[in-house]
Amino acid sequence: MKTGDLMARRQRALAPFHYHMFERPLHIVRGEGVWLWDADGRKYLDCYNNVPSVGHAHPRIVAAMSTQAAQLNTHTRYLHEGIVTLAERLLARLPDGIDTSAFVCTGSEANDLALQMARLFTGAEGVVVYDGAYHGNTALTLAASPSEYPPAERPEWLAVLEAPNLYRGAVLRDDPAPGQALLARAVAALDALEARGQRIGCLLLDCAWDSNGPLLAPVDYVQGLCAEIRARGGLIVCDEVQAGYCRMGAQWWGFQRYGITPDIVTCGKPMGAGHPVAAVFMRRDIAERMAAHQVYFNTFGGNPVSAAVANAVIDVIEDEGLMDNSARTGAYFLAALQELQARHPVIGDIQGVGLFHGLDMVRDAGTKAPFGRADMARLGNLIAQEGVITGTSGRHGQTLKLRPPLVFAPHDADLAVQAIDRALASFSPQEGRRA
Ligand code: PMP
Repeated sequence: MKTGDLMARRQRALAPFHYHMFERPLHIVRGEGVWLWDADGRKYLDCYNNVPSVGHAHPRIVAAMSTQAAQLNTHTRYLHEGIVTLAERLLARLPDGIDTSAFVCTGSEANDLALQMARLFTGAEGVVVYDGAYHGNTALTLAASPSEYPPAERPEWLAVLEAPNLYRGAVLRDDPAPGQALLARAVAALDALEARGQRIGCLLLDCAWDSNGPLLAPVDYVQGLCAEIRARGGLIVCDEVQAGYCRMGAQWWGFQRYGITPDIVTCGKPMGAGHPVAAVFMRRDIAERMAAHQVYFNTFGGNPVSAAVANAVIDVIEDEGLMDNSARTGAYFLAALQELQARHPVIGDIQGVGLFHGLDMVRDAGTKAPFGRADMARLGNLIAQEGVITGTSGRHGQTLKLRPPLVFAPHDADLAVQAIDRALASFSPQEGRRA
């Protein structure tokens, strides 16, 4: 099947809102570890995909999946050991007090359930999120995702905080007390929500601010914000769909970086290394409030195959030391990227930790004028031609997002940096130029 023919068939058969990455969409037919192969046999280093967390087609994941599928797959209304073991293993990695779990299939479902539970528990509708954030595709989570629609359409119950970007936000790194300055601005947004007659049900917090970066926020800001939310009666819901599962280095969850204790934690993408499994973890009293109100049933959530796969992912992370690898290779990668930045002034800023880094690309280092989307697309294509797959994020789409599988090794980091270096050597931004 020629790639062009497949594209035409896809356009006819699939809805037009299915978008693809890259000018000439990649037709990937095989994956292994950090490598992907296209239909022409071309090999790419995967520097973008967090979902195959333990690497593409990991033999232990494939074995766990096929062994369980050959034995039994059914829903959660019967007893099965796999889901219980999985729950126990993940709860053991969460702070005391978060002792109860529920399994679903996607991050959207996990956040939807979390928001429903927070609202029921507090009796308050208000939800606090970040500008540019994405939390899911259900009616409720989409409304709580300011990245997806214009500000004029925001519901009354939503407070939208500015992302704590210390490079190009309202508060900068050289502010004498950036955390406190950010906190003062957040408090004003919370006051405005309450002045509209909305009480705060929860803060929905992604500790990587991934669609804005990733970003690294001041610890005192995050801690102060959580204290403010709690003082106003709200719960802290951490969306760990991107930040969790060792993505941010030497801890399992992103929120641990900030020393906060959430009331509810959601996770998804990396849990099943490509298989759709997601979860919500919470305090028992929050789950009991929900149970007293309604039944929640999710046909595929936590089924025996999903549980077998998710348990195998934890086994691989443990046995292959992938948390440590995320920290060590992540630090090596960051140092190499910083060296690259010293040679390429178009890299205005680098933020990230572990195996999650963002390069904020600027046309002018002085004014920080961001690369436009067309330039970012051209740059992504050039890097792909150099054999490395990257992504983009950021308020203006100006951030080159690097978020490889957790099995990424230092020599992979070298290959990625060399490819970006070669692409930048032949690149000059076109947008924003005088004609
Ligand atoms: N939360 C975050 C932070 C995400 O990045 C995403 C997906 N991009 C979601 C939630 C939704 O997850 P899913 O696509 O599995 O529904």
